[in-house]
Amino acid sequence: MDNLHRKPLAQLAHLFRAGEVSSREITDAFIAQIELQDKKINAFVTTTFDEAREMADAADARRKNDTLASSIDGMPIALKDVICTRECKTTASSNMLKHFQSPYDATVWSKLKKAGAVLLGKTNTDEFTMGSSTQTSAFGTTKNPHDLKRVAGGSSGGSAAAVAAGMCAGALGTDTNGSIRHPAHFCGVTGLKVSYGRVSRWGVMPMASSLDTIGPLAQTAEDCALLLEQMAGADPKDSTTPPENVPTYSEKLEQSLGNLKVGVPRKFLDTFAEKIDPEVSRILESAEAQLRSLGAKIVDIDLPHAQYAVPAYYIIAPGEISANMARYDGLRFGEGKKGKDLQDMYHKTRHDGFGDEVKRRILIGTYVLSAGYSDQFYRQAQKVRTLIRQDFDSAWEDVDAILSPVSPTPAFKIGENLEDPVKMYLEDFFLSPSSLAGICGISVPSGKSKTGLPIGMQIVGPAFEEARILRIAHQMQQQSSS
Ligand code: GLN
Repeated sequence: MDNLHRKPLAQLAHLFRAGEVSSREITDAFIAQIELQDKKINAFVTTTFDEAREMADAADARRKNDTLASSIDGMPIALKDVICTRECKTTASSNMLKHFQSPYDATVWSKLKKAGAVLLGKTNTDEFTMGSSTQTSAFGTTKNPHDLKRVAGGSSGGSAAAVAAGMCAGALGTDTNGSIRHPAHFCGVTGLKVSYGRVSRWGVMPMASSLDTIGPLAQTAEDCALLLEQMAGADPKDSTTPPENVPTYSEKLEQSLGNLKVGVPRKFLDTFAEKIDPEVSRILESAEAQLRSLGAKIVDIDLPHAQYAVPAYYIIAPGEISANMARYDGLRFGEGKKGKDLQDMYHKTRHDGFGDEVKRRILIGTYVLSAGYSDQFYRQAQKVRTLIRQDFDSAWEDVDAILSPVSPTPAFKIGENLEDPVKMYLEDFFLSPSSLAGICGISVPSGKSKTGLPIGMQIVGPAFEEARILRIAHQMQQQSSS
């Protein structure tokens, strides 16, 4: 069958179940694309083709015996390289963990493996997921498949580029403050940030523990729904995962959008107006029109504290990062360097092992948590976080979901924004509020710029309402493709 690598996961799964194509054929089609394209794109840090073929053959055997494990059985995926796997190393795209082999699987990978997913490899990320462009990776920048001179976004840039280039049927990323939604927007794929606690974080290298989430990237919202229903749920190893049952998201996609009210935080968008590319504004308008035509009502809402989310995030996250990075000392974790004494060994290990962005965050984090400063910075930021959460709580009294851009511009050029960290941090302007509030959001490909770069829009929903935002995204996609 031709062009298997271009088909969405849901369609491949359908063809596989119907016996029209084997998992081995699908897997080989993606492997061929990786071999053809990834030297240029650099989406993968490690590939696991031998394991993938074995897993695919096992899925084909299950299909023959009528013992398929799930609706995604036999589907080839890639995992961001902070998700621990026994099959191969997990590097966080850092020299610190260049050869790190995890002795266990992350819960999210053991669940997907049990569901029959096939692992093609591990994808590139900003080092320890800190960044918005996959340029801070120790293993080189991931290029945007739509224009190789541009970044893929980040930090899950490898996963987004791999999906966009047809190098896997779906991929997992992590989203602490936009790292799934942002590269999905830059690469023209769908990316879902789940609510905090929806998916177990166990076995996934932490960045900022009060914000970290793990979610799917794929061609469509339907694909994301299929992956999420296998990944989500309670895990005794992660106490933030509630015991409630996981909805079958893929079965709820067709419910009508009539009666839904979608808010647009107009004043918040205006505070950033001069930075928003007119092409992004144009596509926001067309998304509003599209939602209206699907039966939703669009209303203006106010999120009065959302504009303070980026500064609050860049205090809270570094605080947590500085604590989480302490384990990479060359003894507990990380490639230890020789030193004349213990102190010197720590110093050399961390000096050589971490890149500039990670060091910057450790320094900021240590500062904002230190005695005398934590009241001025960290506590203040936590108060802002509470106000932002309350803004959303009031918004939900009025609307069911919120529409906004994902980031102010389409993909920028490689090298841009690198010298000025604050400029890079502003990429998160529309992503931080929902991250700090722990709620869910999805990046939906919604159009293209005049120069052909993808532009996504973001739909945000209340905590644990993934079914609702997936449904909205799905219907937007169905309408656009019909
Ligand atoms: N842009 C965010 C940062 O650099 C992305 C973090 C994330 O979601 N992993 O902190």
